[in-house]
Amino acid sequence: MSQEHYDVIVVGLGPWGSAAAWHLSSRGKSVLALDKFTPPHKEGSHGGATRLARQSSSAGEQYTAFTKRTFELWDRVAAETGTQILNRTGTLFVGEPGSLWFDRTIGSLQASDFEFDAIDAAAARRRFPWAQVSGAEVAVWEPNGTVALVEPGIRGLQTEARRHGAVLRTGEEVLEWDETPSGVLVRTDQGRYTADKLVVAVGSRANHLLQLDLPYKVARQVLANFRQPGPALPAVYFAKPPGSTEAPAYGCSEPNGDWKFSVPGKEDWIDPEDLTQDLRPGDLERILQVLRERMPGIDPEPQSTTVCMWAEVEDGHWVIGQHPQSSRVVIGTGDMGRGFRYAPAVGEMLADHVDEVPRPDTDLFLPSRFAAARA
Ligand SMILES: Cc1cc2nc3c(=O)[nH]c(=O)nc-3n(C[C@H](O)[C@H](O)[C@H](O)COP(=O)(O)OP(=O)(O)OC[C@H]3O[C@@H](n4cnc5c(N)ncnc54)[C@H](O)[C@@H]3O)c2cc1C
Repeated sequence: MSQEHYDVIVVGLGPWGSAAAWHLSSRGKSVLALDKFTPPHKEGSHGGATRLARQSSSAGEQYTAFTKRTFELWDRVAAETGTQILNRTGTLFVGEPGSLWFDRTIGSLQASDFEFDAIDAAAARRRFPWAQVSGAEVAVWEPNGTVALVEPGIRGLQTEARRHGAVLRTGEEVLEWDETPSGVLVRTDQGRYTADKLVVAVGSRANHLLQLDLPYKVARQVLANFRQPGPALPAVYFAKPPGSTEAPAYGCSEPNGDWKFSVPGKEDWIDPEDLTQDLRPGDLERILQVLRERMPGIDPEPQSTTVCMWAEVEDGHWVIGQHPQSSRVVIGTGDMGRGFRYAPAVGEMLADHVDEVPRPDTDLFLPSRFAAARA
């Protein structure tokens, strides 16, 4: 059995772990990064070809600084690796003032210097005739909204990590870890490794590996692709009416020319180990109902589907920072379905926590905020 020592071991090579491996290795650390599958894949949160990457946020104005930073970092990875990661399509957000997600979205834009236009329903119908906008609704247009390409994004982060000397191993599952007097010991299905510090970025599977009971639930989500007649459309969100706390339906153009559409739900909680690509009764109907109503020009015959999961944290914010019982372990989980676009900035937060660089701007995310984590 091998036993190698590293400055840092990163578990998980999804977007968050790949970004952490990049930042840590670029700071001169020896890094081993492990994943039980070979990302990109459909076994976690990043399945599918695209992720919407708008500048606004429905999670609060405090995310604006991370938005700026993450776009800078994505641009850096794209330039270094010579790949296109962000596709600048513009983003349209349709909703009624008074609805939770609409108010937060426009609030985050008003508090930022991001460019946007708020357009009344009649003008929106003329400018975006492919989208059904009702009388009471307003359409918010962000010209610099983008769509992130999953495979080039994850591969770009990994390429940068490797270029800085990180060792990346896929198809190797971390089974357990222990803190020792001098560091951490990690046992996988193929070997044992030691390190000074450990980053656990395993997405929705965090509680199991961390031996914690962080208050998040794992939501199963379905993405469906349709044929898109005509030229590629910008990314779009359709908010639920005032009174609903549910996330907006959303869609974007895919690299193969399809139109991806999804209607997120909060009623399909799963154990992450039970994720499969099988559709359940009602999965497609839920998507088709909104697609037909909001975008009648899209051919409603599904071409393909992807089933994914994300972690919904009780208080609506990510879980990023030191393990409450181990100063050598840094956690990155609880993505809330909005973690892809922020991955390079999240990776930097994780690296800063490893290096014990003060990040008061991320206090909102500390795992120690939860009593269950402190128990
Ligand atoms: C349907 C859907 C739509 C989304 N849309 C958007 C969007 O439009 N915009 C956006 O910004 N975000 C979006 N997200 C969220 C985004 O995809 C996630 O936030 C992001 O993928 C989280 O990255 P992660 O690295 O934390 O987790 P993951 O992507 O799940 O990666 C975790 C990795 O850890 C590995 N792993 C797990 N356990 C172990 C172990 N024991 N040993 C070794 N490796 C392990 C897994 O194999 C996996 O590769 C969406 C998510 C879903 C599900």
